[in-house]
Amino acid sequence: MSRLDLNAVLAAIRTVLPAGEGIIALHEPRFNGNEWAYVKECIDTGWVSSVGKYVDRFEELLAGFTGAKRAVAVVNGTSALHICLQLAGVKQGDEVLVPDLTFVATANAVSYCGAVPHFVDSEIRSLGMDPAKLDLYLRDIVRIEGGEAVNRLTGRRIHAVVPMHTFGHPVDLDSLAEVCERHRIVMVEDAAESLGSYYKGRHTGNRGKVAALSFNGNKVITTGGGGAILTNDDELGRIAKHVTTTARAPHPWQLVHDRIGYNYRLPNINAALGCAQIEELPAFLEGKRELAKRYAAAFSGISGLAFVTEPSYGKSNYWLNAVMLDEEHADQRDALLDLTNRNGIQTRPSWTLMHRLPMYTECPRMDLSVAESIERRLINIPSSAVLGKDQQRA
Ligand SMILES: *Cc1c(COP(=O)(O)O)cnc(C)c1O
Repeated sequence: MSRLDLNAVLAAIRTVLPAGEGIIALHEPRFNGNEWAYVKECIDTGWVSSVGKYVDRFEELLAGFTGAKRAVAVVNGTSALHICLQLAGVKQGDEVLVPDLTFVATANAVSYCGAVPHFVDSEIRSLGMDPAKLDLYLRDIVRIEGGEAVNRLTGRRIHAVVPMHTFGHPVDLDSLAEVCERHRIVMVEDAAESLGSYYKGRHTGNRGKVAALSFNGNKVITTGGGGAILTNDDELGRIAKHVTTTARAPHPWQLVHDRIGYNYRLPNINAALGCAQIEELPAFLEGKRELAKRYAAAFSGISGLAFVTEPSYGKSNYWLNAVMLDEEHADQRDALLDLTNRNGIQTRPSWTLMHRLPMYTECPRMDLSVAESIERRLINIPSSAVLGKDQQRA
């Protein structure tokens, strides 16, 4: 059996990345626009905290960019997911279908609701949930009871499914929506990685009942920490704002709270960063696309591995680039990770699959052979937008 030429892989990555000293990070934020001016204004005027014009403006800009009716800015993507699940009606003791291949926040948000994550396999073309495989599985385990899906094996209601757009590659939303309809399950999108990604021309985060975005430091745009809830339902948007701002009832001077709310609102100073970052988003997306194009060309001549590209039905933001080793070379993954990191190029394997994490080993799951194969073979490589800019090349 032939071996993968690791030095050739390293050389290919190097043709794309700038030469020079220092480590090339997996993903770095870039502040090249009005960040300083907007943040300074917050400090100069004293409007740094829970209210201020930047929160409103950021929400409007997000809704405008994504095409969602309403965007509600919150402290991070995890809290956005938590509230999305509540808005979708997830209750204690429910099961929620989540990808096995995801960042832990997707499963944790389910746990915050007192519900149980139930792990779903991926398909290779999107790395996200496999609608056909999920459908077959649900046909086997679901019985409809009082108009709701119940897991025959556990007796618990399966209330929601949370597809995630892995590394920015849009998951097959139409097919998943069909599966949800057939089995009476609500769809919530984890769009934390997919700002600037489109499914059949429509921005991701518009198909589910609600969706969560993240503006963590490593995401396409950052507010330091931050997130947002997207919805096309005015009433849900109103409730999202209300429960994330401590559920304070309108009153000129008295503090009255009409339900259990959360202090999840995004501070104005973070929203100021967000307003400046979203102005730069089109340029970031261009840089990331160019970078992906160069990687695709550089890896095309190497056999034994493939650069991960967007599915044909959609447009990816290429948030985090990845290569996948052929199955026969999976045993060389760690050697490649070692080699690249030793040479100043930050690389990383995929997330550890959810069903392997100690708190989730007992959770229900379907056959996860594709996610397991991806986990064995995938490596993320440097993806900062600035790396796709010409003037940055050596
Ligand atoms: C980043 C991310 C989140 C949210 O993360 P925060 O750090 O809380 O903003 C949720 N899900 C996925 C898949 C993510 O990548």
